[in-house]
Amino acid sequence: MVDIKSMTQPELTAWLKELGEPAFRAKQIFKWLYRGVTSFEEMTDLSKAFRQKLEETALLTPPTVAKKQVSQQDGTIKYLWELADGNCVESVLMRYQHGNTVCISCQAGCRMGCAFCASTIAGKVRDLTPAEMLDQVLFTQIDSGAPVSNIVLMGIGEPLDNFDTVLRFLTLVNHPEGLNIGMRHISLSTCGLVEQIDKLARYGLQLTLSVSLHAPDDETRSRIMPVNKGVGVEKLLETCRRYFDKTGRRISYEYAMIDGVNDADWQADLLAKRLKGAPAHVNLIPLNEVEESPLKPSRRVAAFQKRLEGHGVTATVRRKLGGDIDASCGQLRRKAMDETHRHEKRG
Ligand code: SAH
Repeated sequence: MVDIKSMTQPELTAWLKELGEPAFRAKQIFKWLYRGVTSFEEMTDLSKAFRQKLEETALLTPPTVAKKQVSQQDGTIKYLWELADGNCVESVLMRYQHGNTVCISCQAGCRMGCAFCASTIAGKVRDLTPAEMLDQVLFTQIDSGAPVSNIVLMGIGEPLDNFDTVLRFLTLVNHPEGLNIGMRHISLSTCGLVEQIDKLARYGLQLTLSVSLHAPDDETRSRIMPVNKGVGVEKLLETCRRYFDKTGRRISYEYAMIDGVNDADWQADLLAKRLKGAPAHVNLIPLNEVEESPLKPSRRVAAFQKRLEGHGVTATVRRKLGGDIDASCGQLRRKAMDETHRHEKRG
């Protein structure tokens, strides 16, 4: 069976040609896929016989809404999607003045092990497919009625640990007859896999790369982010500088403020020192508390920001959206997993 929605339009055309179909068939099918049909039956301008043939040779894997939470404060919507094999992932729709942004997941779970993150607690179950990533954007748009203009890859999973899928996803959402979302409207967030950052640089994409730094010194960073071990902050920042040289795109550094861990003045000073010389932007994120973790939000966010700015580093504090619905990413999935677990135990 072929995963038809993970195919690019040229691939779809080639595949249909093998089946003896004319080239315009690809455009026809492509259009239906992006209207969000959930079966080939719905492609009513194709002959019954051909729809039957598609049914037998191709797969559609639309997700279903397992849970949906709408913020009464700001209209943020959080979706828990159930995938075709029963795994769940999350997406969040955020409404900003510059347009609606959807935050999507790229893996069911995560194997990076960051100490503050809910997504990684039970490890990685599997990579998502390009179609499963695409469908999060498409069905968020269809379900909410809000046209999506921006995408952030900041949900569950590590995008650069599912590299080929993510690249293919980018090609798909970019297609003018598909969702037509430009690279400059897409952000990709990584915990800092240096080899893959170099690999990504070679594509010269105009997306925004966000690097989850969270500490300027190796002792702290290795403690909260195992990915830092054996690499180190210096090498990561060198890689980021190379990335900028290749792509001309300023990097955004994410910094989740954790009480007594990474919020000291000396860490702001060291961060500023290490970022000198390359255009950068620091995004300070108030830590979302994760039930299973002892880490607490910092009370020094404003002071830390001021200190960075004193050194000439641009730093903003991320506005918290959807404060009244399950906060940080990965938590909705965790809860659903807990519930299933409890059911299983009971049953
Ligand atoms: N794996 C990628 C993308 C997913 S996480 C990455 O590491 O960047 C998206 C962002 O949320 C990352 O910056 C991550 O460090 C941050 N994050 C994870 N858990 C958080 C929490 N409890 N509070 C605040 N930010 C968190």
